[in-house]
Amino acid sequence: MPTKISIIDVKDYESIPEAVVGAIKLIEDSLKFDFSNSEQILLKPNLLTSKKKACTQPAFIEGVISYLKGKGLSMNNVYLGDSPGQSQKLGSDVAKEVGIYEICEKYGINFIDFESKTPVIEKIDGALRLKEIHVAQTVKDSDILINLPRLKSHLEATMTGAIKNYWGIIPGGLKAHYHLFGKSADQFGEVLADNFSWIVKNKPNRLIVYDLQEIMEGRMGPGGGTMKTWDLILAGTDEVALDLIAMEIGKLKLKNVPHVKNAIDRSLGIGNLENIDIVGMPLENAIKQTPKFKAPGNTFTGFMAYMTGHIGYKIAKKIPALIKSKCIKCGECAQNCASNAIEFKENSFPEFLRKKCISCFCCAELCSEDAIKPKTRGLAGLFD
Ligand code: SF4
Ligand code: SF4
Repeated sequence: MPTKISIIDVKDYESIPEAVVGAIKLIEDSLKFDFSNSEQILLKPNLLTSKKKACTQPAFIEGVISYLKGKGLSMNNVYLGDSPGQSQKLGSDVAKEVGIYEICEKYGINFIDFESKTPVIEKIDGALRLKEIHVAQTVKDSDILINLPRLKSHLEATMTGAIKNYWGIIPGGLKAHYHLFGKSADQFGEVLADNFSWIVKNKPNRLIVYDLQEIMEGRMGPGGGTMKTWDLILAGTDEVALDLIAMEIGKLKLKNVPHVKNAIDRSLGIGNLENIDIVGMPLENAIKQTPKFKAPGNTFTGFMAYMTGHIGYKIAKKIPALIKSKCIKCGECAQNCASNAIEFKENSFPEFLRKKCISCFCCAELCSEDAIKPKTRGLAGLFD
């Protein structure tokens, strides 16, 4: 069954919200759900770090809100959230610094930090590497997902886009923990496809609006690469097809992007151009007007994936540290730890069991006294 993707040419940043509405309207007859029957809609942008260029642009959020309002929906059951990578910051910290939080406040959207609720443990049937993952409770609870990726180069995955953006459904430092299941570029691709396969199976109601207005390329992505203006927006319901079209536009070869190739090999979406129905701007025009995407080379991504999988995350791993002067010995943290990594005895300080801890930082987020802070493992992490 073919899938439909809209390609819209945008004039400039200011015209993005209107163009987003247009992009969604062009494919809305292929949506597999009715917004008005939804109990909880979750907008999932990319909130990687506190740099505007590393995150989904605020105008895309405004565009989606404008579309939802146009359908007469109340914003009471609309949520927006994410979990940044290894950073000590929460999604709300990043959202405040890049201008997304104020949009949520302006329109009455509920901002949710994925670490603010204990994650749920989910099995992944047919997984190649990640047999089980912790998923943010809000993702689990939402019946419609609106995925808002931004196209960026990625030093381990070559590129990050529609499929890779779901890596953020895993709360806190757990992402780093799961990264250790993929110690080469190909293995990491399998890990990302495993995570995506959970989405495909459990979250059938999805809409993706893809930020290709200003993209990031070069070796320093996804946080510090070079920005290029492409002035394009994609919308659709199939992440595999959307990543494939973004790669076609940027002339990026499939063999260089292991997670997209793996997702196609596993039939997690539409992976051939013949079955993608393009509406709006013809694909040939988009390809013609767009410069080649400068992706990190395979040798570089292979080396970075190896370093990250074997050494980087072990050293950079963060573990919870107790601030005894603030702790009131209530034991709430131990009750909320999904990994049973906190030992608590009445009238004593909690003790963190380093080997069981998966660095989700739900304990820190849920401690009413702010008595838990992340601490970098450092060289000691190499011996865990
Ligand atoms: S929840 Fe906070 S205050 Fe309560 S025991 Fe844990 S660290 Fe201490
Ligand atoms: S102790 Fe570790 S695993 Fe448990 S909630 Fe805190 S960070 Fe998560």
